[in-house]
Amino acid sequence: MANTTKCAHPACNCTVSDGGPFGKYCSEHCREAGDQTELMCDCKHPGCR
Ligand SMILES: [Zn+2]
Ligand SMILES: [Zn+2]
Ligand SMILES: [Zn+2]
Repeated sequence: MANTTKCAHPACNCTVSDGGPFGKYCSEHCREAGDQTELMCDCKHPGCR
C-alpha cells in the first residue's frame, strides 16, 4: 500500500500518493498554485469543491 500525504496546497483536502505525477500535489492545478493562498481549492476533485 502506497504512503499517502495531504496535498501540499494549503487550501486542498486531497491526499497524494508517494511518487504521484504531480509530486507532492494532487493535480496540475495545485502544482501551479503552489503555496499561494487561495480561498478555495479548485482542483475539481471530490471533496475539494
Ligand atoms: Zn484540492
Ligand atoms: Zn491538491
Ligand atoms: Zn485534488
